[in-house]
Order: sequence, then C-alpha cells, then structure tokens
Amino acid sequence: MDKGVIIVNGKMKAIVKTKNEKGAEVKEVSIPDYGPEQILIKVESTSICGTDLHIYEWNNWAQKNISVPQIMGHEVAGKVMEVGDRVENIEKGDFISAETHIPCGHCYQCKTGKQHICNNMKILGVHKDGVFAEYAVIDEVDVWKNDPSIPAEYASLQEPMGNAIDTILAGDVAGKNVLITGAGPAGLISVSVAKAFGATQIIVSEPNDYRRNLALEMGADKVVNPLEEDLAGIVYELTEGIGVDFVAEMSGNEHALNESLKLITAGGKMGLLGLPDDEVSLDLTNDVIFKGIDLIGVTGREMFNTWYTASRLLKEERIDLDPVITHTFSLEEFEKGMELMETGNCGKIILKP
Ligand code: NAD
Ligand code: ZN
Repeated sequence: MDKGVIIVNGKMKAIVKTKNEKGAEVKEVSIPDYGPEQILIKVESTSICGTDLHIYEWNNWAQKNISVPQIMGHEVAGKVMEVGDRVENIEKGDFISAETHIPCGHCYQCKTGKQHICNNMKILGVHKDGVFAEYAVIDEVDVWKNDPSIPAEYASLQEPMGNAIDTILAGDVAGKNVLITGAGPAGLISVSVAKAFGATQIIVSEPNDYRRNLALEMGADKVVNPLEEDLAGIVYELTEGIGVDFVAEMSGNEHALNESLKLITAGGKMGLLGLPDDEVSLDLTNDVIFKGIDLIGVTGREMFNTWYTASRLLKEERIDLDPVITHTFSLEEFEKGMELMETGNCGKIILKP
C-alpha cells in the first residue's frame, strides 16, 4: 500500500533565504518530509555555484524566480537515509549525488530523450528547497548512485563538471587547439576535461590573476589576460596562424564572445555555456555564416549520459579536481564563501554541514 508523504521528525541546520533582499541565514528548521518517489539524504558535501551567489545577492533573476523562505543550494553528495515507497534501485546507505534539473517527464523533450532541456524544468534550490543543510530531499528521477571510492567533495562537483563535459564534448577536441574564455569554476574544470579528451593545446583567457594561475594548475598550456595582452596575436602565434578549432565560451562576457568567435578557424565550433546578462550582438555574416562555424548552446547535463562520463573520469582518476577546490567552509561560515565568490579570488568553494 502507498504510504504517501512520510513526515520526518527532528530538526536540522540549513542556509535559508529568508528575505527579499541580499543575504541569507543559518537557521534551525524541520528535517524535510519525503514523498513516495523521493529519497531523504544526509548531506556530506555541497558546493556553491554562481546561481547560489545570485540568489544570495538577490539579483533581478533571483527576484523573479525565488520565493522565500527557501533552503539554498543544489550541488550535493550524501548518504541515503530513507527511501520513498515507490523508489526502486536505491537503498538506505547508498552514496548518491543529484542531478539538479528536475524534468516533468511528459513534454515533447522529455518524451524524446532530451530530459535535460525539458519544457517545464524545475531546479533544485531554485524552485524547491535545496541542499545547503544537514538533510535534503531528492526526487528519484534525479538520483545518481556514486561509486563509494569517489570522495564526497568530488561527487558533489560532478554537477558543474557535467556542464564542462557537455561543452567540451560538443567540440570534438581530440587533437585540436582549444580556447577557453573565462576561468571560473566551469572554465577551470573544462581545462582538465579538454585534456582528458585529448585536446593538444589549451589556451585560457581570463582577466583575474588568481584564476589564471589555477588554470595553469589544471593543465592549461597558455594563459592570457585579455585585458592586458594581445589575445589574437598569441592565439595565431600558437596555432601557426590557423586559429583555434574550438572555443568553450565560459565567461558570459560579450567582448570575450565576439573576440573569441573571430579566433576560430573556418569550419570550427563554439560551445556556449556562459550566460550573458543581456542580449548580445554578433557579426553573424562574417564571423559565423561565411566561416561555417557551428554555435552550440549547452545547458545542464545530459541525463544521464554525462553523469556516466563524469563518474568514469573521476573513478579512473583521469581528472584531478583538487586544484579547483580552493576553500572549504562549514554551513555557519557560508558568508565567507559568498564574499570570496564576489571577489572572484577562488575556484570552487565547498560547504560541509
Ligand atoms: P564565473 O562567473 O565564476 O566565471 C566567469 C569568468 O569569466 C570569471 O572568472 C571572469 O573573470 C571571466 N571573464 C570576465 N570577462 C572576461 C573576458 N573578457 N574574457 C575572458 N574571461 C572573462 O562563472 P562559472 O561558475 O565559471 O560559470 C561560467 C558561466 O557559465 C557563467 O556565465 C554561468 O552563468 C554559466 N553557466 C551556465 C550553465 C548552463 O547550464 N548553461 C551552467 C552553469 C554555469
Ligand atoms: Zn519535460
């Protein structure tokens, strides 16, 4: 018999967005109840994403999408504590991560194998309570069972790693010259993904000194400050005048997008992950059409192709995420993490309950 929603007794600490203004607070709240197609996990590791910073700062996008009070956070790894009645193949004690896009399962995209671009997408920690807490509820459709050998910090990073994998794989990078614009966490992880997939030369452009150094640690062959150096000159010099085969645009900066588009050799490709705040203008005629460039938009992670790839790369140690993990804080210290993210002098920041 279906037991319906299970009420869980007890309290937990969580980072809660409580007001329609900048900030958030650590509060004691009830451990969440879980439904028949959900699981309850004990959170072992979480990580802060740019989206969490937007919610914390309460930018225009957050004001339109978040209703308070809400627990923040979506990147997570943890142990299964309880399993809903209709959940199959997941057991108490399993070590899991979560896909954060919650597809509807009914729309055209979902029905045609493209759940990751569902028309009615909900997002963990955006449209429902998130994971910056001691316990969290995950929908069965989003559960990813981890190999126990993967450290919890890495397991939580599979989500942003998936963005990097889908972008880099769009580029067919084996044996190719790649330019990555923007060395935030997405760009940094993309460096090691591009290396793992056989890119022969990886050039990274990034204005922030701290992040350019991290890009070198992740395995970039050349880092460039596009505000102070001649990016075009350097790219042509390093590619025998050919230009790069692929650009992974990971900055969302209009200037970076336009400049790097011009540095792609005719017939090359650009994977677009970075999200510009506003509309951007491109010279489509000369920079895309006449050059036969493929522009590929990337959102989320393929469910679950990308997760298989991410976990294999981690399990076989083809990728070292250590350099990108620059700080670890407790839930109580989350504001330190948000402030660091605002400066840009960080890679990925881990929050541990
Ligand atoms: P981030 O903001 O930490 O990194 C962006 C980096 O770009 C920063 O380090 C910044 O200094 C750099 N930058 C700024 N101007 C530049 C320029 N002219 N040239 C080169 N670099 C420049 O963000 P992130 O977490 O690494 O994510 C990267 C981008 O991807 C963001 O725009 C984010 O919103 C977006 N994103 C998209 C998806 C998706 O599903 N499409 C998922 C995650 C993130
Ligand atoms: Zn759908």
